[in-house]
Amino acid sequence: METKEMICILCPLGCKMQVQEKPGKPGELRVRGQQCKLGNEYAYDEFTNPTRTVTSTVVIHNAPLPRLPVKTDKPIPKEMVSPAVDEIAKVEVNGPVKIGTVIIKDLLGTDANVVATRSL
Ligand code: SF4
Repeated sequence: METKEMICILCPLGCKMQVQEKPGKPGELRVRGQQCKLGNEYAYDEFTNPTRTVTSTVVIHNAPLPRLPVKTDKPIPKEMVSPAVDEIAKVEVNGPVKIGTVIIKDLLGTDANVVATRSL
């Protein structure tokens, strides 16, 4: 049975965990190495549907800085991160922009918006 190694990122302890599916019980996981129950939840999510919040920047015109920091307002599927970064890189905006402004709505159909993380 395949064992996946993963590090829980939910707190600074960063427990190194070993996760494997229980033999004959698809969808049920055996998790080792976690120091609290949050590790179980993280391992299950990471094993079945890994997601990431994407942070990046876009070009901004008419502003004191050349790039505006942005992020997705919710995590997106891990396999969508690379296309999402490419899509965000195409965007240019004009200042001023307020923190929280939606820069891209429903990024690549993920239901996540890309929002400004500072005013500029
Ligand atoms: S398993 Fe618990 S203690 Fe370990 S890193 Fe995750 S949240 Fe922190």
